[in-house]
Amino acid sequence: MSTKTRFAPSPTGYLHVGGARTALFSWLHARKHGGKYVLRIEDTDLERSTTESINAILEAMTWLGLDYDEGPFYQTRRFDRYNEIIDELLNKKLAYRCSCPRERLDALREGQMQRKEKPRYDGHCRGKSIAADEPHVIRFRNPPEGSVIVDDQVRGKIVFRNDELDDLIIRRTDGSPTYNLTVVVDDLDMGITDVIRGDDHVNNTPRQINILTALGKEPPRYAHVPMILGDDGSRLSKRHGAVSVMEYRKQGILPEALLNYLVRLGWSHGDDELFTLDQMVELFDIKDVNKAASAFNTEKLLWINQHYIKSADPVRIARLLSPHLGDLDIDPVSGPDIVEVVRQQQERARTLVEMAEISAFFYRDYEDFDEKAAKKHLKAAAREPLQQVKERLAAQEDWEAEKLHQVVIDVAESLDLKMGKVAQPLRVAVVGRAASPGIDVTLELVGREACLRRIDRALQYINKRVEESAA
Ligand code: GLU
Repeated sequence: MSTKTRFAPSPTGYLHVGGARTALFSWLHARKHGGKYVLRIEDTDLERSTTESINAILEAMTWLGLDYDEGPFYQTRRFDRYNEIIDELLNKKLAYRCSCPRERLDALREGQMQRKEKPRYDGHCRGKSIAADEPHVIRFRNPPEGSVIVDDQVRGKIVFRNDELDDLIIRRTDGSPTYNLTVVVDDLDMGITDVIRGDDHVNNTPRQINILTALGKEPPRYAHVPMILGDDGSRLSKRHGAVSVMEYRKQGILPEALLNYLVRLGWSHGDDELFTLDQMVELFDIKDVNKAASAFNTEKLLWINQHYIKSADPVRIARLLSPHLGDLDIDPVSGPDIVEVVRQQQERARTLVEMAEISAFFYRDYEDFDEKAAKKHLKAAAREPLQQVKERLAAQEDWEAEKLHQVVIDVAESLDLKMGKVAQPLRVAVVGRAASPGIDVTLELVGREACLRRIDRALQYINKRVEESAA
């Protein structure tokens, strides 16, 4: 049978990084084996599932580029099929109606807890015949003896004793099927060969295998992927920072960087850190996924992101940067060519948000000088070079980098100063801080008018400072 995997999120919130990593591993497994990838929305929990969440998940999958060959399928549209299977199980006496009242179940549970036993249903209704029109749930008749062996692709063999599993509810009193039943029916109908999911589902697996076996079907292969921890070793949550995939987009992370980062969380290939999607498909093997949980490391994500920003096509980065400039109320149309700005900044930013911040000065005057930079570079000694640069720039005919560079050289020579004594004050004057791309392109892209205006501002600052220190 050709490989088929699925990603089966419950739409009760955004897609978080743990879910995204599971989605990625399943996707890689399908792609590696030339198989198919299914997206299934497990929306049977009507109270907690929302359309917003479904849209958020679909949007995140698209942003990540995890394309699916089939789906999205919605479980809420498959109730007839689930009921068909439940009826089959009932008819074959593999399931039965149970009318135990809440109070009985509560008392049973309490007694078991007191005796320090694992809480489980005691099979009270197993032999009863309860009419279909009486309020009831349907329970699966779990085999009383023997054990279920899960040959997990990540965790190895796991053995579950049947006498530790109870008769689980497969249809609630309101007629809705439960998770373990719907998953089994779907995995079966959709021809899933490999179930790759979070290890919070490990304990469901023997139950699902038992239902499949009762139906006379071969279970798929299973792989349970360990969870992601925060930097303090506890389960990754909002407390540790962003957990939603789309939040990372907002923070200016590229999708390929997030995927590259996520694949390395729990999987490795030698000491390699950087993988294109094609390389991941080639090298990934679900069996190499680590059993132990891995901790999220934001610094590393930023490092990987910087790598992808640096090596990406500037036209694409420009398109992605634009909304981040928009967040700063900057319309990139009102200034230098954004692609040129990207080319100059590609080496300098770890995220697109950072790139927008350090590029704002190209489009509008900075609010204030960076204090440290101004203290260091805008002092009395900078007055004369700035004044001279200003005069020459005002008279400069061709406003282009090479010529502007010459202006800086000429001023330095005429005052017998090192280049830096001219270029640094000039940079702080034009940019507001001590770091920017080369002074020549910076001047060119900022434009004559803004350069002159900002040099004036720097001169005023120096004058004020000199006056104050004289007073
Ligand atoms: N819907 C389940 C979840 O979001 C996943 C079920 C599965 O993969 O079997 O946790």
